[in-house]
Amino acid sequence: MVHTGFSATEIDHDWQQLIQCGPRFLGTPNEVEARNSILGSLAKTAASIKEHEFSYQGWALIERPQLQVVSPSPYAFPCEAMIYCGATPPEGIQGALQYIGKHKVMDAFEWEKFAVVAPEGDFLAYISGRPDGPAQPQPLGKTNAALPHFVIGAYELSLLKSWWERGLKIEVQGTLRCEIRPNARTRNVVASFNLDSPKKRICLSAHYDSVYSAPGANDNAAAVAALLAIARRMTAQSPDFPLDLLFFSGEEWDLIGSKAYVAHLVASQKIKTIQMAVNLDSIAEGSSLELWAGPESFEEQLLKVANSFTGHPPGRRILCRFPPPYSSDHTPFYEAGIPACMLFCGETVKYHIPQDTYCPEGVINILYVAEFTWHLIQAFSSQQAVWRTWQDRVEG
Ligand SMILES: [Zn+2]
Repeated sequence: MVHTGFSATEIDHDWQQLIQCGPRFLGTPNEVEARNSILGSLAKTAASIKEHEFSYQGWALIERPQLQVVSPSPYAFPCEAMIYCGATPPEGIQGALQYIGKHKVMDAFEWEKFAVVAPEGDFLAYISGRPDGPAQPQPLGKTNAALPHFVIGAYELSLLKSWWERGLKIEVQGTLRCEIRPNARTRNVVASFNLDSPKKRICLSAHYDSVYSAPGANDNAAAVAALLAIARRMTAQSPDFPLDLLFFSGEEWDLIGSKAYVAHLVASQKIKTIQMAVNLDSIAEGSSLELWAGPESFEEQLLKVANSFTGHPPGRRILCRFPPPYSSDHTPFYEAGIPACMLFCGETVKYHIPQDTYCPEGVINILYVAEFTWHLIQAFSSQQAVWRTWQDRVEG
């Protein structure tokens, strides 16, 4: 076996430890347990560790949402809730469905949306349906939502659409009990190497939170395990380039952790010290390696580095998505003018559902992505001149 400098056993251990916390939903004890587990692993490395605390508008589900079709034929729909949505009264709501069009989720997925309307015309709730797979929680994106908002899966959506298209009257009832928790607080963890270096810094990030319904093994405990492995390798090999490992909170809440962190970088003018940002999300499963990167010149540089890497598993497809979709923590960096990339391995079947659990084969994929990421940051750390030229052109 080729010695890679990463230990599969240690990656496996870190990965399982995070998964065992259970769903790492913000505002729950599991969130704190996961963060403490990360801090415990980092304490054994040479990283300078800081916690970046910020406040956010909290939201908690009080009980599982329930949704029943009353007519045209009684049916209990499996359902989830949109994060930040409003609550039904304790006794629930009942009304008729009206199809109202598309719902773009995280700027990446196109869902279909229905309103639940009372006899006098008031809107009581929304129902959004995925065209693929079972119901999954997603954030609404803005925190001023007032109405309860259910999510249903593809099969239930197809039922509603076929009834709607046939002109049948669709009546539903449902309960969704949740509450807003103002002034909640959480923390990103920042592990820095070579803080005194005059060179521009590379930011490498992964979010440690998950949605309320999933243990989030692939999304995103796997990438956290990869970052911890990179922290150990930085400690063992002491390369001289400056690196910040960012363990973000609140990615599943419309990227609030990375948004707060980049806002802090901008306010303190530290944004000018950042060379590039690489975010790892969902890297344990899937058969491709996707680079969601921008600007286009950065995509080109990344692909050249990817092409020069000899450790890709046989048959692995390298794919780009441009411009980089909004849906993970690379976005606030990209929007602040930093060359940014997200690494993703293409698994979408288990995304945000309870089946996103540990699988032993995943360790090999995490090891591969960690090795590729290591190659990537080394290659870019020696390209400071190239990046100054690019950034000067943008700034000038
Ligand atoms: Zn994720």
